[in-house]
Amino acid sequence: MALFGRLIVASMPLAPKFIVKRVAKRYVAGSEMSDAISTMQNLSKEGACFTVDVLGEEITSMDEANFFLEEYTRLLRAIEELGINADISIKPTAFGLLIDRELAYSNIEEITRKAQECGSYVRLDMEDSRVTQDTIDVMLAMHSKGLTNIGVVLQGRLHRTESDIDSICNSLGGESDFRICKGIYLEPEDIAYTKYSEIVDATNRAITSMLDKGAYTAIASHDLPVIEYALDALRERGLSNNNVEGVRRKGPGYEFQFLLGVRGNIRRNLASEGHLTRVYVPYGTRWYEYGIRRLRENPEVASHVVKALLMPWTNRR
Ligand code: FAD
Repeated sequence: MALFGRLIVASMPLAPKFIVKRVAKRYVAGSEMSDAISTMQNLSKEGACFTVDVLGEEITSMDEANFFLEEYTRLLRAIEELGINADISIKPTAFGLLIDRELAYSNIEEITRKAQECGSYVRLDMEDSRVTQDTIDVMLAMHSKGLTNIGVVLQGRLHRTESDIDSICNSLGGESDFRICKGIYLEPEDIAYTKYSEIVDATNRAITSMLDKGAYTAIASHDLPVIEYALDALRERGLSNNNVEGVRRKGPGYEFQFLLGVRGNIRRNLASEGHLTRVYVPYGTRWYEYGIRRLRENPEVASHVVKALLMPWTNRR
């Protein structure tokens, strides 16, 4: 599968843009904020709530960070006005983390304050291992300023994740709140698990550890061995969603998160069984760069995408 994925990725730049656009259409709400809004309004009928991502990352000048500040501000206002059950996901590098750390902190503080005013929440997406510690540090810095409506993503594949869970839970106690995923970035062997079974086991261990420490745990995986493990772990601990309508939950609790366009049938089953499900909704004009970059980072994604297109029954919207 990995070789197949690499072949597809290598040929991607040769593919006409309209073909890439057709592929992306399933996974990206559209170019405009209004596309994300209508996608969410449609999916709300399925009982899902949302986290919205404005596409783009790793900017090259601080001016670009202003675009993200303004767009996320507009988005927060629209979500509040329309009463959609949605929060936002941001990439710290889109706010300038790799260019000017101090300014990036102040940008992230500004958007987190705006989210707080709107009764919303900010999830810091986790990017590659260059910024793992910085991303955790930004989140802790916001909490120390009384902005508790922010949390990070941890990646099961990284060796450090277990100790990150310990140290974040020690610092934040009942305010600890994670998204746990396998991690999309292929990291080197000295810092990460690289085999499928090791990554699944490590992700499942991280889920156990988060639940045992009483952290709110957002399980972001489409993989049945992870979802089923999580369901057993929740059952063993007598955990259920008792605040499904709330904007943001703290303390022991959980939700399942899915990417837009991926394994909607599993998400709908979970929702019908009473589990809170959240859909990650990306939108923006940078869908092409986003798509190509994701595919380059992890050619396995290309295999999933092609499989989903050729065998749609394996990945029902
Ligand atoms: P896999 O074994 O990769 O996938 C299981 C099955 O799901 C596949 O066989 C396939 O049928 C289907 N599938 C999975 N992905 C796709 C796809 N793109 N297209 C079509 N079918 C697919 N990673 C980060 O590094 N940082 C983050 O901040 C981050 N945030 C995320 C937020 C959400 C809500 C989700 C769901 C994932 C996020 N990820 C993030 C990505 C994650 O780390 C994985 O790379 C991705 O979810 C694939 O892993 P999986 O657990 O779904 O298992």
